[in-house]
Amino acid sequence: MVVFVKQFFFFQSSDFLFKFLVIGNAGTGKSCLLHQFIEKKFKDDSNHTIGVEFGSKIINVGGKYVKLQIWDTAGQERLRSVTRSYYRGAAGALLVYDITSRETYNALTNWLTDARMLASQNIVIILCGNKKDLDADREVTFLEASRFAQENELMFLETSALTGENVEEAFVQCARKILNKIESGELDPERMGSGIQYGDAALRQLRSPRRAQAQSAQECGC
Ligand code: GDP
Ligand code: MG
Repeated sequence: MVVFVKQFFFFQSSDFLFKFLVIGNAGTGKSCLLHQFIEKKFKDDSNHTIGVEFGSKIINVGGKYVKLQIWDTAGQERLRSVTRSYYRGAAGALLVYDITSRETYNALTNWLTDARMLASQNIVIILCGNKKDLDADREVTFLEASRFAQENELMFLETSALTGENVEEAFVQCARKILNKIESGELDPERMGSGIQYGDAALRQLRSPRRAQAQSAQECGC
């Protein structure tokens, strides 16, 4: 298995770490979305033999640094064999369809059922109508998809991995919603399988009071 780990902000520490998934039918542009998010460029077809299965990037959301660990199906969806372990413990997901293909839109309900059953129950999902640049070939209207999103409690954006439109926004909006849920107490990062971990910066903060205590105990000799 070829694993590519890309990380910008090499020396940037993070407050949280979220596991993210990219799901949806084959051909909807999931790998291109991941590539555009990490590399800020469109992945042309010539390098599609390289299966990017994993990407990582630190983003700043309202002053907090969040490291996203993003998993791509890497072709498993072609064989309808996306494994349980792929879903396990994901905090967020991009659920992708292609606005020029009604078939990929019709498959959304199945993907949703799997995500809610096999990932964390509180998984935050953003619906992405990809290939927004191909408006002339559109088979699914914005309105129809936004109604579907509302009925299923999903966030919704139309994206283009080709132009980059709304790609960063999709990841950031999903991460922001997870952070809001942590802040409101709806999500507990310490619960097993939440898909959330404290990052190194937060861990340092958590540990430092104890270290300070130990140090002062040493100093006073008690
Ligand atoms: P995956 O199977 O869901 O991972 O889809 P890929 O990322 O491999 O993309 C499938 C095809 O759609 C490729 O030929 C891409 O070049 C094309 N594609 C992906 N995203 C876009 C997009 O936003 N706009 C256009 N026009 N083509 C796209
Ligand atoms: Mg792919």
